[in-house]
Amino acid sequence: MDLKRLIEDSQRYLFNTYNRFPVVLVKGRGAKVWDSEGKEYLDFLGGVAVNILGHCHPKIVVAIQKQAQRLIHVSNFYHIEPQIKLAKLLVKNSFANKVFFCNSGAEANEAAIKLARKYSKKNYGDGRYEIISTINSFHGRTLGSLSATGQDKFQKGFEPLLPGFKHVPFNDIEALKASISKQTCAVLLEPIQGEGGVRLPSDDYLINVKRICNENNLLLMLDEVQTGMGRTGKLFAYEHYGITPDIMTLAKGLGGGAPIGALLATEKVASAFEPGSHASTFGGNPLVCAAAIATLDVILEDGYLLDYCRKIGNYFNEQLLKLKEKYPLIVLDVRGKGLIIGLELDRDGMPYVKACLESGFLINCTAGNVLRFTPPLVIKEEDIDKLISALKEVFKRIS
Ligand SMILES: *Cc1c(COP(=O)(O)O)cnc(C)c1O
Repeated sequence: MDLKRLIEDSQRYLFNTYNRFPVVLVKGRGAKVWDSEGKEYLDFLGGVAVNILGHCHPKIVVAIQKQAQRLIHVSNFYHIEPQIKLAKLLVKNSFANKVFFCNSGAEANEAAIKLARKYSKKNYGDGRYEIISTINSFHGRTLGSLSATGQDKFQKGFEPLLPGFKHVPFNDIEALKASISKQTCAVLLEPIQGEGGVRLPSDDYLINVKRICNENNLLLMLDEVQTGMGRTGKLFAYEHYGITPDIMTLAKGLGGGAPIGALLATEKVASAFEPGSHASTFGGNPLVCAAAIATLDVILEDGYLLDYCRKIGNYFNEQLLKLKEKYPLIVLDVRGKGLIIGLELDRDGMPYVKACLESGFLINCTAGNVLRFTPPLVIKEEDIDKLISALKEVFKRIS
């Protein structure tokens, strides 16, 4: 089918929920993707931080093929081999003792919210249900996770939201302290705000948050949906900051492209959920777990990829800083960790995203004026050089 027909049909038959670019992507390998017209792109978006090992990594492809031939889905009424194996891998490599599988980031946060409430009720009685999260956070689009999200633009039109959420400025310990009440049961945070514009925590922020949680018997819940699975150069971002959470949520990179989310918790916290407390029909099904096992295996192999992510992330950062030096009035800031990097502009970033697309680079703009780069961890130095040259061209042309 030709491009025009495809786009017409897309608009005719699909909900109009995305501002899509007039491109149909049909094939991918590593950090490259191709559209239906045969044009090649370098992918610095990575399916929004999902394709952690790039497109169609051979180990993930083979794992999915093998599992698809053996067993695609069974109910959680039965034990599921790949699910057990994946849970064990996650537990062995994190703070957690227990894992619950679901299908997305929003669902993982939904489960975290429910777990925090149930845990608090069980241990401290009624009336303790409030969760403090941060302004500019993003936790998903379901009503619970949307209520936790600290951005009006996503919430407008869907009121009334779920009661029991408070929002405080990120990186503001005093504001967090001041917002704690008798009703508070947990704090929910992204270690690095992704959607909110790649905002990093100050050096001692998370340590202080942890201390305040301990002092007030609050659960610390980290939303690592975007930062987890090696994105920042450690398997989980909390490892950079000298803390461990009580609850963590994962999704995006977890399945290397397969849709899977997870809720992780310590034994004590996880025990608040009993048979019947929570469930998901598809959650942790054999197919997606096989993909996630393959993904984790590759990430953890020799720790090579995590080292590489830190190194190549630094290189990328340095090149972007040079761009900032060249365009100091337009580029306000370069910030990131590993391969989640934001380039803050003094203006709307969308024209830059469109120009990059035309030049053969997939990037994205978040929070209006922050170009966000979340390429696969297998991105090469020469790919980064190509993007930087293209960005220079674009800056020269647009600015
Ligand atoms: C993307 C994202 C979510 C939502 O994940 P979905 O799979 O789209 O539901 C939640 N939290 C963070 C930090 C995210 O980046």
